[in-house]
Amino acid sequence: MQKKILIVEDEKDIVKMLEYNLKKEGFRTTIAWDGQEALTKAEREKPDLILLDLMLPEKDGFEVCSSLKKNSYTATIPIIMLTAKSQEADKIVGLELGADDYITKPFSVRELIARIKAVLRRRTEKEKESEVIQKGILTVDCGKIQVEVNQKPVELTAKEFELLKTLIKAKGRVLSRDYLLDTIWGYDRASEIETRTVDVHIRSLRKKLKSAAKYIVTVKQYGYRFEEPSEKS
Ligand code: CA
Repeated sequence: MQKKILIVEDEKDIVKMLEYNLKKEGFRTTIAWDGQEALTKAEREKPDLILLDLMLPEKDGFEVCSSLKKNSYTATIPIIMLTAKSQEADKIVGLELGADDYITKPFSVRELIARIKAVLRRRTEKEKESEVIQKGILTVDCGKIQVEVNQKPVELTAKEFELLKTLIKAKGRVLSRDYLLDTIWGYDRASEIETRTVDVHIRSLRKKLKSAAKYIVTVKQYGYRFEEPSEKS
């Protein structure tokens, strides 16, 4: 089936160029001209991926991204941010809000298409794994993307969920920040700022997991591992 891409951008020329090239690559497209329309269309049309411009009228791309990730109907839709800003700080904010990738204008169409395909490929691989994992007081449903602690649902962002699942699947092995960035965010050569993204997400994940936070263990100077609960806990 053709994948549908939601283009969120207010500049007509860029929209036209994106539409033309994405259709040529076999994608279906739909357009939102401002942040509010983006939220409505994302929920109603369930696109496979969102290309999100940062500079938008009404709500900016950061606001849109964080609203999408907070809404359980749209939280798992991958997002690639488009922006004229090349500042490192913007990139970090975008990734921390849960964007999957980031591309700076002006970009080449070939590069953008390659990134879109990479993000979609990662998503498809993830969808294949639908199983329920039980670890002590923690239940992780990989198909429904739901987490429970002591049978009570816990709301995680898409990235927090991936982080938790990746740690559990490593079966107690220590995972470095670089490895996690590569696997979850798709960055193979991370800067120091980017590796901090992992810590930020771990911190918020632990907060949400409350009494199950003890399963995520920090290994100083290296990374994190999942501590298998003993039979009794
Ligand atoms: Ca714009």
